[in-house]
Amino acid sequence: MAGIYIHVPFCYTRCSYCDFYKTTDQQLKDEYIKALCKEIELNRSFLLKETIQTIYFGGGTPSTLNVDKLETILQTLQQFTSFKYLQELTLEVNPDDVNANYIKHIVGIGVNRLSMGIQSFFDAHLRRMNRRHNAEQARNAIRIAKENGIKNMSIDLIYGLPYMTFDEWQENVRLAIESDVQHISAYHLTFEKGTLYYDYLKKGKLTEVPEESSVEQFDYLVSQLKKAGFEHYEISNFAKKGLESKHNSNYWTGLKYLGLGPSAHSFDGENRMWNVRDIKRYCDALKNKQSYFEQETLSDTDRYNEFIMLGLRTQKGFKMNLLDAFNATIKQYFNDELKQQIAQNNVTLHNGYCFVSEDKKMIIDSIISDFFYVE
Ligand code: SF4
Repeated sequence: MAGIYIHVPFCYTRCSYCDFYKTTDQQLKDEYIKALCKEIELNRSFLLKETIQTIYFGGGTPSTLNVDKLETILQTLQQFTSFKYLQELTLEVNPDDVNANYIKHIVGIGVNRLSMGIQSFFDAHLRRMNRRHNAEQARNAIRIAKENGIKNMSIDLIYGLPYMTFDEWQENVRLAIESDVQHISAYHLTFEKGTLYYDYLKKGKLTEVPEESSVEQFDYLVSQLKKAGFEHYEISNFAKKGLESKHNSNYWTGLKYLGLGPSAHSFDGENRMWNVRDIKRYCDALKNKQSYFEQETLSDTDRYNEFIMLGLRTQKGFKMNLLDAFNATIKQYFNDELKQQIAQNNVTLHNGYCFVSEDKKMIIDSIISDFFYVE
């Protein structure tokens, strides 16, 4: 089983906090599609060999592509792989790209899951984040998607915004629940280098929210979503029963995936590859039959650290017997660390799984880094 990730790097504008690879140059779309189809062809041996279970169009803003372009990509993939076992085909969309016609057409080409970048239901927040949509468009987009055939939808929210009050966060959570979607992803704002917000932070125009506020917002989110019937299956992700993101869950359990498009990452079980993070260089390299990616073979230590990071971020944790795949030194290190973490009640062992204790989720990053093995 494997997944395919397709990075669509086009956005009409740049959100103030975003450090995903993107371009606002819409003229490059045709060239991008050509290069992407070429890249698919170059990966024919992976595609012919693997059973594809999930496809995920991420970005950037995949909904900046019209249906013909999306269909071209899917048809090219189908020249080399069967969609017989495809369970999930996700498209990330921005609310302002959603209309009934577009949704009907993407459903028609096989999209069965949407991931919509809502972020907040407050116009003032959306303006400050430089989002293109407003709160009314967000609510309408969810409704239109549902009315036109989308039965599995995720929405993204951001918390930890310096200018958001706790009352506003409560209202965002309430409206997210009321929107009756199957999946909610909520991410704390981070100030990434290269973003406008990072500059604002450095210049003192914005400040990070105090840790107590982050904890208060996170705890509120978790308690309300649980009450509303969502399962908290990964630190930032909540789903109605059986509707967890299959694509992302596969990343977290270490399955293979093929990443296509500029800046996309791939994993073939042993090696990690990452495509050039520049659309012009990506298109030129594919046109001129030059290399467009770098790769590394993961060492035992890399694989262990990744296993810990991905496994502990999930609600279920990881199966203890999977540690047998690592060498004796790493296993010894893990066991020593495990004793200390259990003594502090940071992690729990249950039914052969190891997971971060419920009340320690806010310090998950420090728990994970304590488990990291450094050679
Ligand atoms: S958040 Fe999404 S829409 Fe905004 S700039 Fe980043 S990729 Fe584009």
